[in-house]
Amino acid sequence: MPTAQTPRRIVVFGLGGTIAMSTTSSGGVAPTLSADQLLTAVPGLTDTGITVDVVDFRQVPGASLTISDITALAEAIHDRLTDADGVVVTQGTDTIEETAFLLDLLHTGPQPVVVTGAMRNPSLAGPDGPANLLAAIQTAADPSARHQGCLVVFNDEIHAARRVRKTHTTSTATFQSPNGGPLGYVVEGRPRRLNQLSHRFTVTAKPGDDTRVPILTVTLGDDGTTLHALADHIDGLVLAAVGAGHVPARLVPGIEALAARVPAVLASRTGAGSVLESTYGFPGSERDLLARGVISAGYLDPIKARVLLHTLLSSGTDIPAVSAAFGAAGGYRPAETWPWPNDSSKDL
Ligand code: ASP
Repeated sequence: MPTAQTPRRIVVFGLGGTIAMSTTSSGGVAPTLSADQLLTAVPGLTDTGITVDVVDFRQVPGASLTISDITALAEAIHDRLTDADGVVVTQGTDTIEETAFLLDLLHTGPQPVVVTGAMRNPSLAGPDGPANLLAAIQTAADPSARHQGCLVVFNDEIHAARRVRKTHTTSTATFQSPNGGPLGYVVEGRPRRLNQLSHRFTVTAKPGDDTRVPILTVTLGDDGTTLHALADHIDGLVLAAVGAGHVPARLVPGIEALAARVPAVLASRTGAGSVLESTYGFPGSERDLLARGVISAGYLDPIKARVLLHTLLSSGTDIPAVSAAFGAAGGYRPAETWPWPNDSSKDL
């Protein structure tokens, strides 16, 4: 077990995003900077004594990353962790809440995988990329971050990948964990953990881009047009339902028919809190939908639920195992009921 005094080696994987952007001749900014160039801009990095290697893995905005990019990244991370203590991933913030959770599911080792980025590109006053990158490296190098899976370090806050959300289009404090708050903070260059995850939820899978799992956001007066248009073309569905897991009564027959064929997962569009199980009794309520075979996402928001469902379906998981996985990861069944226990959880 490494201690804080042991010499540390971290690998930084650069994927592009605002942190790596510079001004283009056609206007605006686009990703151009290498991972090495990002490190050059970090004051005080050499004083940490941490050895940092770099891999230029992708050079794209967050919106253009794919599920298979992140699957390939998880494999590359696995290979590099044979001789490194942790990994930092720099990428576009637009999709960090998805990529970090997917890495969290696919990374089975004890070493920290820390995702970060920037909201202000390097051409602006006060770019946040260098500070975020330094804090991410310091966190990835710290023994206290082991066994926590994938973390998002941003604005000196340490977030669990499975809880973090992007909540603001421009604020440097955009990353928040509405359910439970941050796991800790980076203070004077040291990660200080205040909370810890009691369990990890990992799968052995290689999800690709061919599985079709859309999110359907339920809205006032929804007449079912989108649900019916999608129904025959998908492998699973996440409902971003109103309130604690409710849909208009007129959608119920279509959802019940869908749930008989493919997994239909019920999440809330509200942004925080769990889907309920046993409170409301009207047609289209959470009780009604769960009784008709819909699977609760619990605390997982629609975006996280979609990442989990896509990953499970693209590795051929059957509906009972999907249901068990959501119970554990969604926090409404004991964590031990996760179908694929991970040895690295043992010493949590
Ligand atoms: N605004 C985004 C970022 O923060 C752009 C992107 O996701 O590439 O990096």
